[in-house]
Amino acid sequence: MSVAPQLAVTLDDRFARELSEMAVPWQADEAPDPRLLVLNVPLAAQLGLDSESLRTAEGSRLLTGTLLPPGATPVAQAYSGHQFGGFSPRLGDGRALLLGEITDPAGGIHDLHLKGSGRTPFARGGDGLAAVGPMLREYLISESMHALGIPTTRALAVVATGRQVRRETLLPGAVLARVAGSHLRVGSFQFAQATGDVGLIRRLADHALARHYPGAAQSEHPYLALFEAVMAAQAALVARWMLIGFVHGVMNTDNMTISGETIDYGPCAFMDEFNPAAVYSSIDESGRYAYANQPVVAEWNLARLAEALLPLLHEDQEKAVAMATDALGGFRRQYGDAWATGMKAKLGLAGNPDDSVLLPLIDELLALLQADRVDYTSFFRSLGAAARGDADLTRTHFADTEGVDAWLHRWRALGPDAVAMGRFNPVYIPRNHLVEEALAAATGGDLVPFERLLEAVTSPYDERPGLERYAAAAPDDFGAYRTFCGT
Ligand code: AMP
Ligand code: MG
Repeated sequence: MSVAPQLAVTLDDRFARELSEMAVPWQADEAPDPRLLVLNVPLAAQLGLDSESLRTAEGSRLLTGTLLPPGATPVAQAYSGHQFGGFSPRLGDGRALLLGEITDPAGGIHDLHLKGSGRTPFARGGDGLAAVGPMLREYLISESMHALGIPTTRALAVVATGRQVRRETLLPGAVLARVAGSHLRVGSFQFAQATGDVGLIRRLADHALARHYPGAAQSEHPYLALFEAVMAAQAALVARWMLIGFVHGVMNTDNMTISGETIDYGPCAFMDEFNPAAVYSSIDESGRYAYANQPVVAEWNLARLAEALLPLLHEDQEKAVAMATDALGGFRRQYGDAWATGMKAKLGLAGNPDDSVLLPLIDELLALLQADRVDYTSFFRSLGAAARGDADLTRTHFADTEGVDAWLHRWRALGPDAVAMGRFNPVYIPRNHLVEEALAAATGGDLVPFERLLEAVTSPYDERPGLERYAAAAPDDFGAYRTFCGT
């Protein structure tokens, strides 16, 4: 592997050094004909990287992991995970690499990570590769989530490799360069737990504390404080997913981060019509990861994290279990508070303390949306006009106009703030039919629809003339949407 001094990027190898049992040094596959498809210029600037250099041939090689700065130690990270409830002790980065950590000019630390960079010792039966469509999909949806203010990994670039990838057909291959607070997962702790090495669990916990929750490290019980901090971050995160209508699709414990960032945009989708049972993933036959189950699954996953931390909580394991159970008991209230606060903001009623009025009002609204299969995003956006006195658009969503009129009357009496609502209810989300259209075009070589959609969804609250089709619900003939894991 050659080095790239001219790219002026320094990659630390702190994870690889501190947690070598969980880091397999590995190299990315050579990309036969690398071609930069999309580069996130604002993110590059935030990281202190020079976009012009990243656009060069050397830049593409950095972004595919084949030309690295001196001293870089790319690794495949080991982790375990409960996949659809069943425990797999050895998952890990089958087609991904942690290139290292970047310190940005403000002192923040970020993982620079690749997806689709070739088989690793964790690849099992997989080919280690990724296709252009799914990598652009992750780019688009993660950048949309970021613009919506939802914690997430970010996308720095997608580079087409020039290699074909065999799926149902032959597809053009790509590597995604992704940036994250870290790639520590609940499954990372389960891996450490499965080794039975309490010293490793402690080193991993110390690493996570230093990286994400330095305040908790100072507390009387740092490892309990770590658990509580992760729980708070995940409760807040899943509340944001629910409020925006996002279905992650594969909330296995290896896909839930310690930082509280959304990770692994595989079979995810935004809901069109409001439906608590919404499931898009082709393999989620039982609906385990359906929209309405997401908070329940987050709590279940946190219980797995708590189990992994038990040896650190107390030397008496019965006392440790009591401590963990007590802490986990706070999840429902934290999630419920975050969700209710967000729902009030969507309704222009932030700060209204009268939950005995508001919570039933919210429940009634969701029942109306469900009964009439109302488009979730455009309904909430239309409420801004309704708050100003023009409910025509809102009413068009309902067959049951009597029901919605009665609801609107009660809601308007509470004095909703239309301006504030515009900052909580997006007009542009990556709608499934638009995503599919953009990815199909990109796979065929035309990136324009992708670029246009990306531009719409990365300023999601700012309604612009000419972008009407990006705000509209799916056409009736779009039909049921199906998504796929590990594509
Ligand atoms: P995911 O569904 O993306 O969270 O992936 C679950 C596990 O499968 C992880 O260990 C991935 O690294 C691995 N994996 C997914 N796709 C591939 C592939 N094409 N080749 C090798 N490993 C893969
Ligand atoms: Mg994953």
